[in-house]
Amino acid sequence: MIKYDTIFLDRDGTLNHDPGYIASINDFQFFDYTLLALKKLKNICNNFCIISNQSGVARGLIRIDDLSEIHSYILSFFHDNNLNLIGIYFCTDHPNNVSINRKPGDGMFLKASEDHNITLKSSLMIGDSVCDVKAAQKCNMESMLVLTGNGKKAKKSPNISPTFIEKNLLTASIFLSDTK
Ligand SMILES: [Mg+2]
Repeated sequence: MIKYDTIFLDRDGTLNHDPGYIASINDFQFFDYTLLALKKLKNICNNFCIISNQSGVARGLIRIDDLSEIHSYILSFFHDNNLNLIGIYFCTDHPNNVSINRKPGDGMFLKASEDHNITLKSSLMIGDSVCDVKAAQKCNMESMLVLTGNGKKAKKSPNISPTFIEKNLLTASIFLSDTK
């Protein structure tokens, strides 16, 4: 049953291990449960869309060509597994000089919504950071904080109230498949 128009997914710490500023395809690794989780989530949404802050580019730590290579790999992974990923939106802003695109800004969500006719209030954001939850709140959509990556630290933040909290993307997918 479709419960969400689009499930927005954070990248680092949500879909894949986050060693910090992943600058090479060789350092990019999905969690071992990510595919199974996405296959479950696929049944309850129309689309997936990845929304990712990548300030490593502005910091001079990640080359844009290497970021593109990683994103080509992710797009192929979704495509090969018949998972409807409509796009990877990323923001390279440095935290000291941000536009509305850098989460918790809603710029990337608004752009995706415009590009693909997404109903944001019928969508869900899954992420591991305070900024993911705050961006979802700005977009008036539900949010799921996962306790991988930055998640445990984010959970302690007094400034956020995610709709749901789950251990990781797999338990999130099981919870969302079984409820509502
Ligand atoms: Mg993250």
